[in-house]
Amino acid sequence: MTRKAFKYRLYPTQPQRKDLERTLALCRRLYNAALQERRDAYRKAGKTVNFYEQKRGLPEIRADLPEYRRIHSQVLQNVIERVDKAFQGFFRRVKQRGKAGYPRFKGEARYDSFTFPQAGTTGVKLQEGGKRVLIHGVGSVKLKMHRPLEGEIKTATVKREGDQWYIIFVCEVEPRPLPESDKAVGIDLGTNPNFLVTSDGEMIEAPRYLQKAQAKLASAQRSLSRKKPGSNRRRKAQRRVAKLHRKIANQRKDFHHKIARRLVNRYGTIVHEDLNVIGLARSRTAKGVLDAGWGQFLKILAYKAEEAGRRVVGVDPKHTSQDCPVCGHREKRPLWVREYTCPRCGAPQHRDVAAALNILAKARTEPAGMGTDKSVPLEPRSPVLKNEESSQRGVVTLPLIGGEG
Ligand SMILES: [Zn+2]
Repeated sequence: MTRKAFKYRLYPTQPQRKDLERTLALCRRLYNAALQERRDAYRKAGKTVNFYEQKRGLPEIRADLPEYRRIHSQVLQNVIERVDKAFQGFFRRVKQRGKAGYPRFKGEARYDSFTFPQAGTTGVKLQEGGKRVLIHGVGSVKLKMHRPLEGEIKTATVKREGDQWYIIFVCEVEPRPLPESDKAVGIDLGTNPNFLVTSDGEMIEAPRYLQKAQAKLASAQRSLSRKKPGSNRRRKAQRRVAKLHRKIANQRKDFHHKIARRLVNRYGTIVHEDLNVIGLARSRTAKGVLDAGWGQFLKILAYKAEEAGRRVVGVDPKHTSQDCPVCGHREKRPLWVREYTCPRCGAPQHRDVAAALNILAKARTEPAGMGTDKSVPLEPRSPVLKNEESSQRGVVTLPLIGGEG
């Protein structure tokens, strides 16, 4: 069994927003009070107050302070647990290094979530097939499930990011290995507008909405740079930039999940350029690759592949964008040349598809130790060479965009 997190945006009404804010504020107050209690006990009497003692004090708090009665008792217990964890971390650091920062009080900005630790059975309930979620003390809140929830809900955390609210479900998921596949693919980390290009000739573009949001962010940043330091307008512009950043990060992550899922479903082996190989980042910066978040995408891909029992292989990207995948002729071309005919063998090539083919081929020839698996089962020849007749004549038909399968 593995644990998997699912994060969804919440759309609370104005009164619900107030309830969420209030819950967060009360949890923060409890957190700081519990922290204070531990500090005082320690300082005054050299005693430590532990988790269970503090937990036992919760009913009293709820009796004395009516505002806490609306908050689920387990949410409050989780607050105490957070304090306990902060102390455990502190003691661990003391042991290790002899010196460590004492757990700190949390200001408004640093306390941004509350958790239902047994959300599967109490406190939180999905409604209307996932269109709404009933949150104890807040009511039925609209939510957007942009991808389906899997497994069994264990915990639910309600989180504020800027002025937006999210709910994160942590679920226990049965790992489901996919049926074996001997299909292998090479992927070239694309050049704008392509996010990636596969050795099968499929070109995956970054979605329009993401491109649009990125353009918006660039303009918001320009506008921010023109505002006077310390001014109200500048603060407003800063908030706008931060909001766009979050939006883009979320959209990009969803997109990464989608593409990784698609590749893992289709191929038994996925070969990509190893990002750790020095020089890649530098040579690619001009293409906006860093902006595409390749590191994150490859991490998601590796995770999904492992879960499904599939292989991901990283290879040295050297020369992959210069070599002809048919005859091996090596030639440097300017970035703007997307399609060309190999001067030696006459094969028409698309730069990125050719690179993807070369990347795939490298998984066969490269020695192990590139974080790769020696026993990569690969097809005997690259997909473009499948068409026997045409390759004999030196004419290669590019396999074009494959359908969803
Ligand atoms: Zn050639």
